[in-house]
Order: sequence, then C-alpha cells, then structure tokens
Amino acid sequence: MGQEVRVRFAPSPTGALHIGGARTAYFNWLFARKHGGKFVLRIDDTDRARSTEASYQQILEGLRWLGILWDEGPDVGGPYGPYRQSERMDIYRRHLDRLLAEDKAYPCFCTPDELARDREALQREGKPPRYVGRCRDLSPDERSRRMAAGEPHVYRIRSRAEGETVVHDLIRGDVAFANSEIDDFIIWKADDTPTYHFASCVDDVEMKISHVIRAEEHLSNTPRHIVLFEALGAEPPAFAHVPMILAPDRSKLSKRHGATSVSEYRDMGILPEALVNYLLLLGFSPGDDREIVDRETAIQLFDLEKVAKHAAIYDVKKLEWLNAHYFRQQSPETLMDQAWPQLVERGYVAEGESRREVLMWVRTVVAFVQTRSRNLHELIDGMRPYFEPVRAYDDKGVRKHFAHPETANRLRRVADGLAGVAPFLAPVIEREFRQWIEQMGVKSGELIHPVRLAITGSTVGPGLFDVIALLGRDEAVRRLRETADRLEAGDVVTA
Ligand code: GLU
Repeated sequence: MGQEVRVRFAPSPTGALHIGGARTAYFNWLFARKHGGKFVLRIDDTDRARSTEASYQQILEGLRWLGILWDEGPDVGGPYGPYRQSERMDIYRRHLDRLLAEDKAYPCFCTPDELARDREALQREGKPPRYVGRCRDLSPDERSRRMAAGEPHVYRIRSRAEGETVVHDLIRGDVAFANSEIDDFIIWKADDTPTYHFASCVDDVEMKISHVIRAEEHLSNTPRHIVLFEALGAEPPAFAHVPMILAPDRSKLSKRHGATSVSEYRDMGILPEALVNYLLLLGFSPGDDREIVDRETAIQLFDLEKVAKHAAIYDVKKLEWLNAHYFRQQSPETLMDQAWPQLVERGYVAEGESRREVLMWVRTVVAFVQTRSRNLHELIDGMRPYFEPVRAYDDKGVRKHFAHPETANRLRRVADGLAGVAPFLAPVIEREFRQWIEQMGVKSGELIHPVRLAITGSTVGPGLFDVIALLGRDEAVRRLRETADRLEAGDVVTA
C-alpha cells in the first residue's frame, strides 16, 4: 500500500458501546496493525442533543478494556486534532465557506412546509423524494438580501443528476448508485451545525484517512460522501462496509436477544480476549475451520477481502465457548487480580491483603477451581466452599444422603480418621478413605456422598479428596463434626 494506512473508528456518543461498534473498531484496529498504519479514534458528537459525556466515557472504557487502543484520539491527542467533532466547528465552517465561495454549495431558504409539499408532489408522480432545486440558482443578490433579512436557511451541496456513482467497496466489490438518487443534500443545518455527512468527510480529509471501514448501514451514504470528497478537492478514501450483525432469528439484534453492550459482557464475566476473538468471527472467517484466533494471529490473518458480504449471525453459545477456552488459559494470578474486588466484597480476602501464605492459598484455590469454571462468575461461586462455612445443605441431597440413621456416626468416624491422616494430601486421604469404607462395610457412595454434602453443602463438585486436602485438616474435621452435631440435634430434617 503506497499511501500511509490511516483508519478511524468514529462512534457517536449517544449510548453504550455495542457489539457492532466494537466489531467495527476491532476490524479497523486489525487493519491498521496489519499494515503498520494508524488507528484513530474520532468522536462524532455534532449531534449535541443526543451526545452525552457518560456515553463518551463508556466508549473509551469499553475499547480500553477490549485492548483496542488508538494511536490518535481525544485523550491522547495527535497531529490532526482535536478529535471530538464538537471541538472542530471552526474547521467545518472554513470548509463550508470555501465551498460557498466556489459555488459548490448554496444556501437554501425552503421552509419545512414547502419541502413537505414537494415531497408529496413527487410521490404522486411515483418519483423518489429529492430536493427540487428551488434555491439552487438564486441570484447572488437575492441570496444576500434574504440572508440579511435573517431568513432561516440551510446549506446544500450541488450534486449532479446524470450518470452514476460507483463505490469500489473492498468487501462488496463495485456498487453503482444512479446519481438521480443523490439530490442536493444538506451539509449544514439551520441550527448552524454541520450534518454528519459533511463533518465526517471534512474530517476524513483533514485527518488523512486512507480507508473508511464501517458498518454496512452507511453504504447508502457513501455516494453522497464521494460527492463531498470531490467538492472538497480530495481523493476519496477506500471504502469497506462490514456486514450487519443479526440475531439468530435473523431479526435486528436488540436488547431482547440478551446482552449487546461491551460493559454487559464484562459484567457477565466474559474476558476481553474471548470477546475480541468473537468479534473477529462476526463476519470474518480465518479461511480454515479454526475459530480460536487470538489478537496476534488475527493481525496476521486479517484481510478485508476475506470479510463476508452476508450478515453475521450472533451466537451467544459460541461466545461462551470461546470464553471457556480463554478462561482456562489465564494464569491464576491474572484471574485472582480480576476477581479480587469481588472476593473483597464477599469478605473472602481483606482489601490490602499481602500476607504470603494467604495469597498463596487463594492462588491455590483459584488454580483448582479454574479448571472447572467457564467464567469469572463460576470461578467466584466455585470458591465459596473454601471461604464460607456451610450454612445449608442441598435439600435433595439431604433426603438422599443424610437419611440413613448411621450418617452422624459415619461422619464422626471419618472426622476421627482425617485427624490422623499424614501427610494431608489427596492421594493419602483417598487411600485411607478406601480402608474406612471397607471397615464400615458400606458402598463407597454411601460414605463419599454424605461426606461431600457435609463438607460443601452440595452434592456436586470437584473430586472430594482434592477438596478435603485443599480445605485443610482442621476445617474438614470441623465441618464433619458440626454436621454430625446438627443431625443428632435434629437441626437437619432428612425426611
Ligand atoms: N458516527 C457514525 C456512526 O456511529 C460513523 C459512521 C462512519 O464511520 O462514517 O455510525
């Protein structure tokens, strides 16, 4: 690529960072990284009424959390700043003035009523709506007079009605639009602010954007943008429109299909690595059957020509599956770090804990529970038995495994046995257990199930001997004796 690759992600800060926006950002980022170019974050906030500071912050936070970092942007600056459109009004005004001086744009004084009547008339003739050109050729005198009189006005760009405009889309190939479909559209609104089309094209020129990679819904805007680039005297950038993301039933993806914003995924316990991998698969296939594609590999493989033309279907199961994969790969330290605030909240650890033996123990528990968890939530839940006393026993389990009249005695027997096991390691505990089972003349399940229920409150979980070893002798013995006491006192109803 001859020219320097410069791409931009240009969100409007009017809501959360959604999965579609994040995917667009990631594709831009991958493209920039692959070609040694620059990834620019530009905030399209000319719509003052709908833009919020909260949304702006959320977008930046979401991208940072995903590790999609920008080379130039509102917070980090760069050679073509400022990077928030609301701070660039003088730049847009300068370009508008030039277009007016060159007669490439003109003021339009048509009232909303007039425009509505024009539209109806066209409709009656079965024609598509377009601006009829009433103010196109007003004399300079009339323009000045009406301006001086303070008549409300917008500014329109001169388009041409004949021929066609072809968008050379790097994903879709050539897409032709009849110029009759492109009217003299508005570039500057009556409230004295630029339209999205105008601000976007001015910025793409000013910021030397080489490739515009954005959502498919903007494809129909592109012929207008080509008109603008020409008027601005600039070579249009290359375009690539990435496919829509649809729900499994092929309807538009929305709230009712579950989480759609990046912060919701984070709160669900999804890891950023899993989410970016998932974003890649929304429209890009690596070329073989592989689906696990980490960031570095994605940079190598990414190619706009391999982006699908057809819509991508959102599949939360795939995301969860990817998450489980990345989750297992994390180091226990990373997971501890991510889980820490919640562990503090639950009272499992103290906020500023630094004692080595405590940290080592938490690490051991995390490493152990990690192997059978798919996300941070499952991890934290799975840590419960090691940090909380057993407050209640699973109901069904109680009826099934605590009903035998000998249960309390058996639990005491195991407690006494454990008190003497040395070293207190899972294989040693298991060996001893087998002996007790034989001595008691019971089936292994008749001892293992009640012991698990007594120690964890649950009927399911990791290997019992591992759990006992991890919990430690004192705690395991205490829990068994306590359960026996409760059973004997009739505190636990087994029928
Ligand atoms: N602000 C527009 C959006 O969020 C940007 C479109 C573009 O990339 O040109 O859809």
